[in-house]
Amino acid sequence: MILDTFRLGSRVALVTGGNRGIGQAIATALAQAGADIALLGRTDPAETIAAVEKLGRRALVVPADLSTAGPDALADAVEAVVAGLGRLDVLVNNAGIIRRAAAVAHPPEDWDAVLRVDLDAVFHLCQAAGRVMLGQGHGKIVNVASMLSYQGGIKVPSYTAAKHAVVGLTRALANEWAAGGVNVNAIAPGYITTDNTAPLRGDPDRERAIRERIPAGRWGAPEDLMGAVVFLASDAARYVHGAVLPVDGGWLAR
Ligand code: NAP
Repeated sequence: MILDTFRLGSRVALVTGGNRGIGQAIATALAQAGADIALLGRTDPAETIAAVEKLGRRALVVPADLSTAGPDALADAVEAVVAGLGRLDVLVNNAGIIRRAAAVAHPPEDWDAVLRVDLDAVFHLCQAAGRVMLGQGHGKIVNVASMLSYQGGIKVPSYTAAKHAVVGLTRALANEWAAGGVNVNAIAPGYITTDNTAPLRGDPDRERAIRERIPAGRWGAPEDLMGAVVFLASDAARYVHGAVLPVDGGWLAR
């Protein structure tokens, strides 16, 4: 039956940056759908572990700082998931940072930091997970893109470059891996109330300008991403490859 294809029972999902914000909602959603969860990050995800275990699912912490972990360390992290939870079925590349500074003054260290976390780590984790998934003939990868995968944004050139690239990478990997049973897709969140957007919401003019441009008439909550990620992580999306699913209250439709 169709609803059964959304279930993730006996699957293992690796989520980056699952300790807070959108990643926490994504990890919780995947656990609600039945998956055991590996949480890769640099901060203790105690709250998320508690939520996952409360649902009767297993949680595994994989410590890694995506600003410094290279391809070998991230391949080891993927191996640690397989060793610790027995398999790997889903990877969600959620962790991300943003640095706000005009292009003419954008510090090179901000450019490097953003590209490392928001793009390099995404590729290296896709590569490591892809090897496992292609070897077993199935897998789901969900990358977290942005409205700035479509638009230029204001004073966030490194973030915009990385998030455009995440969409290109998603399509490139989908092309290569669809025949191997691996679905690579992306979610593009709109404006969501997390720490990432706190500076925007702290500026009343900017907050209002954004809210008034959203057809749904409100900012998104992390929980608004839950349905989209479960869909793309599940067999319900078995013929969906290289897609970018906006969850944006209609922002892009405007
Ligand atoms: P957030 O609340 O700031 O959370 C960012 C997450 O990324 C945290 O878990 C953070 O861990 C992790 N992270 C950052 N740097 C890391 C590093 N070096 N190593 C490991 N983990 C690291 O932001 P969010 O809004 O939930 O963002 C999640 C994703 O959604 C990002 O890719 C973001 O670009 C994307 N997004 C957000 C919005 C939005 O409106 N909020 C819109 C579009 C796309 P720590 O706690 O250790 O820092």
